[in-house]
Amino acid sequence: MRNALRLLLAGIAVCAFFTGRSVAVEPRVSVSTEPVASGGIVIPVAGVAKAALRDDFDNIHSGHPHHAIDILAPRGTPVLAAVDGTIRKLFDSRAGGLTIYEFDVATEKSYYYAHLDSYADDVTEGMRVRQGDVIGYVGTTGNAPANTPHLHFAITLLPPDKAWSKGDAIDPYPILVARGVTR
Ligand SMILES: [Zn+2]
Repeated sequence: MRNALRLLLAGIAVCAFFTGRSVAVEPRVSVSTEPVASGGIVIPVAGVAKAALRDDFDNIHSGHPHHAIDILAPRGTPVLAAVDGTIRKLFDSRAGGLTIYEFDVATEKSYYYAHLDSYADDVTEGMRVRQGDVIGYVGTTGNAPANTPHLHFAITLLPPDKAWSKGDAIDPYPILVARGVTR
């Protein structure tokens, strides 16, 4: 895993070298705005391939089941809306740091993005987003190790009262592997 991260970082350094730009703190990745085929889900970190994902849903983190997937990427990599939906809540929590709760269009599932370095400039609660839209940037806010920037990504089945912080966790890994699209 550490080697993969090193390769990613090396790749960015190499790109910066060949384009004559200095290495930016927040790497600018061009993200395609092509529509995703019906039923597809955008892998919520720009440039991350299915093969780089690891299923750590059932791992125990700090004494609790993880119930999410951690997607490693350099700090500042764009975080993308996995599905069309609405930004329901922007929340700064001790464990998650800067987080986003996005509800899908049918209000059946919530998509949770945590440890963000920052939100995208224009993101507000109640805002509609399209899948693939940049909603934030990968970071280490909350309890993420300072040297391991990653997106903590969770999907929950919303309860009948649609409370943004509740619901039963669904493993994102098989969904991303079956229907994921890299942007
Ligand atoms: Zn996590």
